[in-house]
Amino acid sequence: MQIAHQLVRILAGKAITPPEGAVLFAHTVSPVELQIWAAYLGGIVLHDLSPTAHLAIVARGLGLPALAISGKVVVRSMQEALLNAFEGWLELDPPPQHIKEFPPKRFKLTPDAAPVLVAGRRIRVLANVNRPDEALWAAELGADGIGLLRTEFIYAGRSEPPSLDAERALYAGIAKAFVGKPIVARTLDIGGDKPLPYLQTAGQDQGMLGVRGLRLLLRHKDLFKTHLRALLEGFGDSDFALMFPMVATPEEFAEARDLVLSLEPNPPRLGLMLEIPAASYALDVFKQEGASFISLGTNDLMQYFYAASRLSVELGYLQDPKLPAFLAFVEETIRRAKRAGLEIGVCGESAADARLTRFWVQTGADSPRHQ
Ligand code: PEP
Ligand code: MG
Repeated sequence: MQIAHQLVRILAGKAITPPEGAVLFAHTVSPVELQIWAAYLGGIVLHDLSPTAHLAIVARGLGLPALAISGKVVVRSMQEALLNAFEGWLELDPPPQHIKEFPPKRFKLTPDAAPVLVAGRRIRVLANVNRPDEALWAAELGADGIGLLRTEFIYAGRSEPPSLDAERALYAGIAKAFVGKPIVARTLDIGGDKPLPYLQTAGQDQGMLGVRGLRLLLRHKDLFKTHLRALLEGFGDSDFALMFPMVATPEEFAEARDLVLSLEPNPPRLGLMLEIPAASYALDVFKQEGASFISLGTNDLMQYFYAASRLSVELGYLQDPKLPAFLAFVEETIRRAKRAGLEIGVCGESAADARLTRFWVQTGADSPRHQ
């Protein structure tokens, strides 16, 4: 669909390149379009944008200021605008003085390889990576590894799956940027807000509560096997672990594990993303089935815990990871994981929420050791 939109625009002679530093106002925009335009844009202002939507995560990964607005905003083409997404404000037709005072460039992070110590204990901070260039960026900035490699980017924005060779080469490139450091890749998470046209089956519900993540891959075993092969071969002898998204039951995990074992009798460490609350009550069984770790996917976990879509701007008040019931559930899950002998990491956006840093460190959800 996204490719179709691009094509229609090009065929209609409407393939536009935004002027440098432009702020894009739209109801919504696809992650693929955003990646194409990111180099030109100074920021985006969208109607439909919640903090844990895939689109917001992609924008963050691109270092692109993004602001969600509600209500009607009327803008003219080429109207001047100042956008500060850190502070959450937008100024239309700013006076010259405001333009002068506004920093002309996007905020740039600076490398910091110093270890993070909490009460003398070294806490490893691993990066979430959505694309190969982000891996290089994270390595440069001093990340201790990759805590979540989202693999959808390789499959998105095209009309058929990538070849085994192409996919394997991308992973090998990422591995090179993190030699000697842990990398946790998660298998494709298609469905929900990450659709993939060529994996759509007529009549199949691939919505947030439908055939998504691991459920979908287990229904496309050939594609799943090629994907696994690319991951296993691409990451070769890296300090590599593999996890599956949207796991509800130990049986699903075991089926995926068997596929891995059919390709590699000495597999990397396997884990699951804890995104579906039910999985929290079977952690000892996951361990018996061969899981070594869980990674708290709080973006999805929260939406399933509160039955409130992560995409809903209106339900934003149910997307705050500091909500007491959610924290109590997470704490209980961490306790259960420890009792079961599983390591615990956090890969949802709440891992970067400074209000929760102390909580994660104190509860022991301080990322898998992989050693
Ligand atoms: C999550 O759900 O917390 C997560 C990290 O996965 P994604 O945002 O890609 O669904
Ligand atoms: Mg998720």
